[in-house]
Amino acid sequence: MSVRFEYRPYRASFRQPLLTAHGVWAEREGIIVRLLDDAGRESLGEIAPLPDWGTETFASALAFCSALPRQLDEQAARTVPDALPCCQFALETAWETLQRPDHPAPVRTLPMATLLPAGAGAVAAAARATARGFTTMKWKVGVGPAATELALLPRVLEQLPAGGQLRLDANGAWDLPTARLWLEACADRPVEFIEQPFPVGQEEPVISLANEFATRIALDESVAVRANLLRWLEFGWPGIYVIKPSLAGSPRRLLHLLDGYEAEAVFSSAFETAVGLRAALQLVARAPGNGRAVGFGTIGCFADERLNLPDPGPTLSTKWLARQAPGPLWEHLSTVPRAA
Ligand SMILES: [Mg+2]
Repeated sequence: MSVRFEYRPYRASFRQPLLTAHGVWAEREGIIVRLLDDAGRESLGEIAPLPDWGTETFASALAFCSALPRQLDEQAARTVPDALPCCQFALETAWETLQRPDHPAPVRTLPMATLLPAGAGAVAAAARATARGFTTMKWKVGVGPAATELALLPRVLEQLPAGGQLRLDANGAWDLPTARLWLEACADRPVEFIEQPFPVGQEEPVISLANEFATRIALDESVAVRANLLRWLEFGWPGIYVIKPSLAGSPRRLLHLLDGYEAEAVFSSAFETAVGLRAALQLVARAPGNGRAVGFGTIGCFADERLNLPDPGPTLSTKWLARQAPGPLWEHLSTVPRAA
């Protein structure tokens, strides 16, 4: 059976520019793909590349889409090259949704982590998140001077509810002495884990630190694409794996891989629209649960509300997700001329 393939690119501003260890990030580009069958049913998929994380670029994803035939069969939808992991994710999830509309994600209620802004604003944001019922919060660090952020740590932690936990995400900004300072500061405090202390390619000290300190360490950027994930799985990384499904290629192969290695995964979003978020969350619902909150604090990140999934609050049920009908997102995007 073959289906009609269409695609529309988007460029969208964030509600608030994101301040990370890599600088200010104000907008993202992606592509929405649409599959239509002869019965008039349709499904959407999202290509949301983050080339700094090792995925294809927006330009290469666009070139791939423009070269695809207008009619696709299952073989074409399932054999997107590994060099295009975001395209692989979009086409496989769109294909699955179209072929098996009666096979939604299992009924699950997922605890959600919320994202705190970098710097002193995290204190008030943590208090607001506690008032809304969140118990797991992630704070971006490595943005300002370490001494300033370390001084803020107790103040942020004070805002957490009883039993609450804080995740720290350094986005690869630390060196070894800084990482040691933080790990010492986190001892005996409710810090669930420290995420990506060192840049990709310079992670080696995490191995000894993971043995030396009780606070868990998670890898995120280091395991974003399949080849790197496989390398750390093979190595037997004893920490946590932060997995961004929309960057990780085929969902079917990803779940198989994580299951095969019994990896302790925390799933996370990558600034997708409602289309990519829905597909990623359906994958999370299929993965074995480990009680850790899901890192989808980017929900609602776009200034244009038509692109956003509604804010689910501190928990997300897959029943609720299934009720979120796709809005007029496809119609809102404009077409691009196809390459000859
Ligand atoms: Mg991270």
